Parts: sequence; structure tokens; C-alpha cells
Amino acid sequence: MAQVFLGIGSNKGDKLKNIRNAISSLKETQGIELLAISSLYCTSPVGPQGQDWFINGAISLKTGLSPWDLLERLMSIEEGLGRIRDRPWGPRTMDLDILFYGDLVIDQTGLTIPHPHLHKRAFVLVPLMELAPDLLHPVFKKTISQLLEGLRSDERLVYLGSIC
Ligand code: ATP
Ligand code: CA
Ligand code: CA
Repeated sequence: MAQVFLGIGSNKGDKLKNIRNAISSLKETQGIELLAISSLYCTSPVGPQGQDWFINGAISLKTGLSPWDLLERLMSIEEGLGRIRDRPWGPRTMDLDILFYGDLVIDQTGLTIPHPHLHKRAFVLVPLMELAPDLLHPVFKKTISQLLEGLRSDERLVYLGSIC
């Protein structure tokens, strides 16, 4: 079993409902045991502007699924919630990213772990900080709290609280 951290986000449709539904689907997945869910944050979009703000959070879980099987499951949850892949970083009903999979480092076409942008994103590091401030990034050899401390970002985050 590996300990995994996921990023979860939605900026289209009923965002909170999408997040609740995705969490239910994760809970129902054989081979996944949910451990903790961070508070949720309303966050300004990075990338293409002019789209709605996101609701973002982080999730920790244990899984016996391989990284690729986990990714496949996450993509099927996204699709089940109506995600359409049209333009990169565009609006989406659901985005589930694998942030960390134990201390595994993978850099393959279609799967990079740790997630290649997590260290640059307040909307990832802030919720992650609640779950695992001392988690060591296996490539940068810095903890989440050190990465957050070194982050210079103009993202805006509004604390929404916990949904469970
Ligand atoms: P970003 O990766 O910058 O957060 P995004 O989440 O909008 O962007 P998607 O369109 O959801 O990107 O995914 C694009 C591809 O990223 C997916 O097809 C998937 O194969 C790949 N990918 C690579 N590494 C990961 C990862 N760690 N978690 C999820 N998807 C990943
Ligand atoms: Ca993403
Ligand atoms: Ca994604």
C-alpha cells in the first residue's frame, strides 16, 4: 500500500457538488482507502484568465493500485462528472491530479510524479500543508512547508472550511 496525495479542483457547474461526488467515487473505489481531506479553498485561476474561480483541496489516501491504474481511475471519475478536455487549463467540472505517490519519482509520457507544477502553486501547497507539512518532496528535498515558504505567487485564496 502506498500513501498518495491528490489535488482536487472544480471551476464549472456546481463545484462543491462535483467535489463531494468525486470524493464519494474515490471512497467507493476498491483498492483505495481515504485517509484525510483538507479544507477547501476558493482560488483564482492560473493560466487562461476570464474563467471562474476554482474550489481546490487536497486528499490523502492509501492505495494498492499502481500509479497508472490510479490515474486511469481518476480520469474515469473526471469523465463521469462531465469533464470535457477541450483546451489546456480551461474550465473543468473536475480535476484530480496525483501530487505524490509515496516517495516514487516517475517521469513518463502521460504520468509525472511528483506532479510537475505542485511546487509553484499556492492552491496546491496551502491545502497540502494542512495534511502533511513535513512531507518531503523527493526531487527538491524540501518539505511542503519549505516549498510554501519559498513560494512567490499572486494567486488569491479564500478559505472555505471543511466539508466533512
Ligand atoms: P496540470 O497538469 O498543469 O495541473 P491539468 O490538470 O489541467 O494541468 P489535464 O488536462 O487534467 O491537465 O491532464 C493532462 C494530462 O496530464 C493527463 O492526460 C495525464 O496523463 C497527465 N498527467 C501527468 N502527470 C500527472 C499526474 N501526476 N496526475 C494527473 N495527471 C497527470
Ligand atoms: Ca491540474
Ligand atoms: Ca489533471
